[in-house]
Amino acid sequence: MSFIHHDRKKIEKKCDQVYHTEGMDIANKLLMTCLLPKYQNAIGLAHNQIGGTKAVFIAKLSTDPTSDYGGASRKWRAFVNPSIVSKSTELEESSEGCMTFPNKENKVMRHTWVEVEHQVKPRHLGVAFTKERFEGFDAVIVQHEIDHLNGYHIHNQEEK
Ligand SMILES: [Zn+2]
Repeated sequence: MSFIHHDRKKIEKKCDQVYHTEGMDIANKLLMTCLLPKYQNAIGLAHNQIGGTKAVFIAKLSTDPTSDYGGASRKWRAFVNPSIVSKSTELEESSEGCMTFPNKENKVMRHTWVEVEHQVKPRHLGVAFTKERFEGFDAVIVQHEIDHLNGYHIHNQEEK
């Protein structure tokens, strides 16, 4: 069983690329962690938040892009080797919490939309990467998690 670490030093290192199969195993481990009753408010988790070093995160994203907050229609998704390939020039202030820093919200500037490329199957099976666009609250979650994979979080944005 994995638990979320609260030592900020551990999450200030950039994560490494991972083979897709191993990435999916990690995503499963992250999901098991988020399903623990103590983490029931989780909407995203990156591998380095549980002491790992790989570029994998999971996020609870809207299944209905027309509804900004999604309500009950949110579903866990896995992202292996993700990167932001395009983003809005417009920024919006976002007040965010983080599982690593309980009860310590911070204000962060976020792009209003981002396009994310991530791996959906092993490289030897052909085109392994897909590109998706996220807006609204989903865009905020995805930027928060990709920050984690690059060693950034809501309390060290100024070092970016
Ligand atoms: Zn976080």
